[in-house]
Amino acid sequence: MLNWRNLILGLTPLLIYASPAEAAKLEKWNFDADQNRLEITTDEAIKPTAVLIYNPYRLIVDLPNTQFGKPIVRRNFNQGVKQVRVAQFTSTTTRMVIEVKPGFVIDPTKISVLPGNGNVWNVDLNCVVPLPKAGVSTVALEVDSNGQVVTAPKPPVTPPKPPVTTPKPPVTVPQPPVTPKPPTSSVPNSDIVLPTVPAGRYTVVIDPGHGGFDPGAVGIAGVREKDVVIDVSTRVAQHLRDSGARVVMTRTTDIELDLQPRVDIAERARGTVFVSIHANAISLSRPDVNGVETFYYGSANGKRLADTIHRSFLNAINIDDRRVREARFYVIRQTSMPAALLEMGFLTGAKDTLLLRNPETRKRMARATAQGILRYLRNER
Ligand SMILES: [Zn+2]
Repeated sequence: MLNWRNLILGLTPLLIYASPAEAAKLEKWNFDADQNRLEITTDEAIKPTAVLIYNPYRLIVDLPNTQFGKPIVRRNFNQGVKQVRVAQFTSTTTRMVIEVKPGFVIDPTKISVLPGNGNVWNVDLNCVVPLPKAGVSTVALEVDSNGQVVTAPKPPVTPPKPPVTTPKPPVTVPQPPVTPKPPTSSVPNSDIVLPTVPAGRYTVVIDPGHGGFDPGAVGIAGVREKDVVIDVSTRVAQHLRDSGARVVMTRTTDIELDLQPRVDIAERARGTVFVSIHANAISLSRPDVNGVETFYYGSANGKRLADTIHRSFLNAINIDDRRVREARFYVIRQTSMPAALLEMGFLTGAKDTLLLRNPETRKRMARATAQGILRYLRNER
């Protein structure tokens, strides 16, 4: 679903507390210049959430169920961070806002909010980087080749479990007679053939829509778009890596990300192609509306990318065809490389919701999407 703008970022998020009676207190927060990070210390264990907001860039770290106990505090910084503000945001949430100076941006792939010792959380400020100069394709910023660098928010530290040391008796279950199977059935969904590309030659940027406080569409039975798309996107990325492509994901966890940072990631990674993955929605009173649709904007190569993904998807999934179309969606309009936006069916559709809720179908969707991207890269029709 594409009405991101309907969701006002970071405003009164609905947070559910397991035990509201035991509020934590923000004991202190300080800047560690050696590590270039903020250290947040509370008296009870909490689980912060991080949200990146664009224009101007600021990173918001919410400490749920935490009392600040004083009026707003502002502290100014050198280098890229302009100011850090801390205040009681709602009656139960303390909010830290990290604002960057003009000429600097926050690299979403470098955002890291990680637990330290005790009730300490560390916010790594190395995510604040100079704004790329014009002609971003020449700016070589470090982007993890695995795309596995967005690490916020992490669950609180739980003590490691001791290894299970109970010795197991040897398994002597009699085996049924083995019936030889055709080799293709040994790999799930192997009917969806994944071609390979030369190792490392192409960079595919995969953009899982929504995330964090922005659930995207919420469909029948409360299925959330952000959950469906991160599952499929992660699988798409793995298939592409297995087939030789370099992959950068705009998000790998449940973090909220505005649109421009998604574009920035694609440009910095110098992506060969950009593929945004969504699930669609219309009114819950329209379960009759179902089908896959794929969008491009402007370029002939973008259209070919959308066509190739769309065809692979239709070949693999029994779903209605809502066609490939041109649309002025931000992420496919602002990216400089061929770009496509896939809407994998309607979460509000009676037929599609069954497909999207089924983990096995989602695996097929992921494999089909990867196949379409690989076919495009191989210049296949
Ligand atoms: Zn969407």
